[in-house]
Amino acid sequence: MKEIYALLEGNRLSRTPCRIEILKALRQADSALSEPEIREKIGEHFDRTTVYRSLRSFLKLDVIHSIALDGGELRYALSPEKELADSSHHVHFFCNDCSGVFCISHQAFETPVLPDGFEATNFDLLVHGRCKNCKG
Ligand SMILES: [Zn+2]
Ligand SMILES: [Zn+2]
Repeated sequence: MKEIYALLEGNRLSRTPCRIEILKALRQADSALSEPEIREKIGEHFDRTTVYRSLRSFLKLDVIHSIALDGGELRYALSPEKELADSSHHVHFFCNDCSGVFCISHQAFETPVLPDGFEATNFDLLVHGRCKNCKG
């Protein structure tokens, strides 16, 4: 809970119950969550608009980030702490079996080499395969 309050305060966001519950749900999940999954985890107390607005303000401040899947479905995950990593430089893993989406540290991956004249601003890579929960 302390970390959640610190995250809100660090981003000058007030401690609304909806924001707190969303951050709790994302912290507890070991994979990225869709909006319906988030709503399911935080219960019935919050209407869709409130959840949507909270997600928008978190995205704007880079408290969370979204991962777009084929077909446009979005999953949300907490952003890595700013001191630890450039949040635009980690990659995502999509499990073909359970459809889980996981944030993976960028250290394991090299930024692609670009031709002269091209400059990368962010690095968006989705690795497909089978996750640790589905393997074996
Ligand atoms: Zn899986
Ligand atoms: Zn991520």
